[in-house]
Amino acid sequence: MDILCRSMLFEGKAIVTAINCTETAEKARQIHNTSKSATNALARVLAMGVFMSAGFKGLKHKLTLIIRGGGAGGNIIVCGDCGSKVRCRMDNPDCLAGDEIAPVSDVIGADGKLTVIKDFGLKEPYNGMVNLVNGSVDADFAYYFTVSEQLPSAIATGVKLADDGSVEAAGAVIVQPMPNCPPEIVETLADVVRNFKDMDELVATHTPTTLIEEYFGHFENKPLQPTYPAYVCSCSREAMERILVSMGEKDAEEILEQNGVIEFHCDFCHKTQQFTKEDVKKIFEAANDKNNDSDRE
Ligand SMILES: [Zn+2]
Repeated sequence: MDILCRSMLFEGKAIVTAINCTETAEKARQIHNTSKSATNALARVLAMGVFMSAGFKGLKHKLTLIIRGGGAGGNIIVCGDCGSKVRCRMDNPDCLAGDEIAPVSDVIGADGKLTVIKDFGLKEPYNGMVNLVNGSVDADFAYYFTVSEQLPSAIATGVKLADDGSVEAAGAVIVQPMPNCPPEIVETLADVVRNFKDMDELVATHTPTTLIEEYFGHFENKPLQPTYPAYVCSCSREAMERILVSMGEKDAEEILEQNGVIEFHCDFCHKTQQFTKEDVKKIFEAANDKNNDSDRE
């Protein structure tokens, strides 16, 4: 089972997070049929989505990460709901196919932007955007946290693939200071992360707990409740019905005339919902009834 572990360091002055999101990344690979190179890059962005949605409290809290880097993989989108329930899509999942795993930056591209949208169900969602540093994910997100959230962070993601391209291990370690953290502690912790020799191997040989113990156990340490990440799509027939209603009855009828059926495809789980002429009739009847009811109120 995937797990995200956190521990307070130096009496709460900093926090280390270690993530194992192997099953989440493998599910993404299966859904999107990604090449080895695409899996290797996408799993790292997914790990960041897992990290950034772990602290969300309510069902209304939504995370969206958008990377437009100009790499072979095209644009990448990762969405996250509370408890690290994530999903993703990328433009070219079959990019750079073959046994050779291309550098992450070849898939993502280094010339573009990382956009972070955090919607807490309030009027205006939080929206942060930075230029990509080098398309490696680690440096790009570290730069984002430093510049946009004033949290100078150290980030290392790791991915190991089996010969058949399936995900053997995927995860990340993130160290973030609290606002009152002295710079020397930030530097000490960043140094630990910098000295990880082979992060791809580390995530394959360690659980989040043993990783934190081995590398951060000698600092004052207080473990917090873990989170259990998973690949979960938020699409549903009900949501598609709402989209259908928002299209308007006239446009829906036009599509039915042309195609005989209306289909909605979800880019995040590749499920398709079909609406026949009878379905559409019922949906608009119900919607119109509801409108009439609310008019009377
Ligand atoms: Zn879906």
